[in-house]
Amino acid sequence: MSDQDKLARYRERRDFDRSPEPGGDGRAADDDPHFVIQEHAASSHHFDFRLEVAGVLASWAVPKGPSTDPSERRLAIRTEDHPLDYADFEGAIPEDEYGGGAVIVWDRGPYRNLRTEGEEACDMTGSLEDGFVKVFLEGEKLQGGFALKRTSSAGDDPERWLLVKMDDDHADARRRPVRTQRESVLSDRTVDDIETEREE
Ligand code: MN
Repeated sequence: MSDQDKLARYRERRDFDRSPEPGGDGRAADDDPHFVIQEHAASSHHFDFRLEVAGVLASWAVPKGPSTDPSERRLAIRTEDHPLDYADFEGAIPEDEYGGGAVIVWDRGPYRNLRTEGEEACDMTGSLEDGFVKVFLEGEKLQGGFALKRTSSAGDDPERWLLVKMDDDHADARRRPVRTQRESVLSDRTVDDIETEREE
């Protein structure tokens, strides 16, 4: 499947004359794959967890956001692939459009595939098909291993997955970064700041 075909669903859902979101014709992949987590104050508030895989951003909506506590399992709903340039997007999607609400870049950075050695070795495309992803994040807010495990059948619409912090040196049951570190890593704005700017 070409990158363009992978983004058909993304484009179908949006009216780019009305939404400020990128159409997905920009930015090519660089050498290091990156992850991004966007806070999205849509009608139901969530965090979008995205991993650069094979030219697009594989995406999940995580209602409660990521936790640094390995005992917390967070529901992650697989959503449509997004274009790479979406990783820079912040702004206000109009209320009556798909995904209406404020978006900020809550965290981002390079990531590494941890499933590269031993019996379970798998590239990222294979990991997505398997329903089991293990990555090491090097973000500003989140670092260390995170696992994503599909709990529904493959191809369910939507697929249900769980996002869990792996138990490593970066695990911390006391941190609550989604509550205590609310500013964008790009602009220092919060989703509330963006909502306020829109109303002014
Ligand atoms: Mn979203």
